[in-house]
Amino acid sequence: MATLYFHIPFCKRICSYCDFYRVGAVQLLPDVVGQMHRELRERATYLKERRLTSIYFGGGTPSLLAPDDIEALISRARELFDCSAVEEITIEANPDDLTDDYVARLAMTSVNRVSLGIQSFDDEALRLMNRRHSAEEAEEAVRRLQRAGVCNISIDIIFGIAGFGGESLDATLRRALALGVGHISAYHLTIEPRTRLGIMCQKGEYQPIDEELSEREYLAVHNALTAAGYEHYEVSNYALPSCRAKHNSAYWRGVEYLGIGAGAHSFSMDNRTWCISTAKQYAEGDFRYEEEHLGRREHIDEYVMTALRCSEGISLDAVAERFGCEQAERMVAAAQSWIEAGVVLSEGRRLRLPPERFLLSDAVIESLFV
Ligand code: SF4
Repeated sequence: MATLYFHIPFCKRICSYCDFYRVGAVQLLPDVVGQMHRELRERATYLKERRLTSIYFGGGTPSLLAPDDIEALISRARELFDCSAVEEITIEANPDDLTDDYVARLAMTSVNRVSLGIQSFDDEALRLMNRRHSAEEAEEAVRRLQRAGVCNISIDIIFGIAGFGGESLDATLRRALALGVGHISAYHLTIEPRTRLGIMCQKGEYQPIDEELSEREYLAVHNALTAAGYEHYEVSNYALPSCRAKHNSAYWRGVEYLGIGAGAHSFSMDNRTWCISTAKQYAEGDFRYEEEHLGRREHIDEYVMTALRCSEGISLDAVAERFGCEQAERMVAAAQSWIEAGVVLSEGRRLRLPPERFLLSDAVIESLFV
């Protein structure tokens, strides 16, 4: 099986923490969409597997695409791949794009899941992050989707914002839970040097929170969401029963994927490719790629990295089968001090971090690399 990803690298406004490749030249979008059809036709054979299990529109801001354009890309995928096993078609959306009219048209497409970038229910925090919407607009966007029958909804929230922990974070969590959505992604704010927040930090206008507070907020989020019945199944992801994100879970399981669009990444077998065209080059049909060969070592390290960020952890049987028994033994030996410290749990043929310790995953992962 395989998955398909469409990257829409356009944003009307740049969030103060965002370090992704995205551009404001929304007028290029029609040409870009036309070229995405062409790239999809040309690159379909990149995947070894013809059967797709999920399709994902990410960005940037995919909700800048008209629902008809979204459906046309899905139809193109149906012409090129076997989509009979596709269970999930997700579009990332910005709350203020979800007008009544847009939602009504979206509900008529094959999209069956919407991932909404809400980030916070505190208007002041939203202003600091330079988001386009208010807390109320975000809430209304979710209600509008639910009224239109689009009930498979995920929302993103951000914690670790200086000055917006405590009651502000609690209120965001309460309002998020009150929406009754099946999936919540919760990310710690990271400050990248080239972002507006990064520059504010350099000027002393913003002071990131310290590690201890980070951990407290991480646990506050974990405790609130798990107490409400959400399973903390990946470091940043929580789901009600049967609401795990299928597309992202496939990434974490090492399933091959084809990414279409400027800045999109693809992965198959021993190859990783990414499109380095700017949006303008892409709009002109000038597709440029870079690629990397993945050797045995990269595959093992990738497995360790994704497995330890998920609640299932490392399956030593899977490691032995894919990479040999000596790799499984090496991992057990490398994890010993973490097991003794109670950070890593050794359960039968599994090594895993309890979700409340996921914050330590980077240190554990590094120690288990080849
Ligand atoms: S909407 Fe997403 S991609 Fe666009 S600027 Fe904000 S965080 Fe970045």
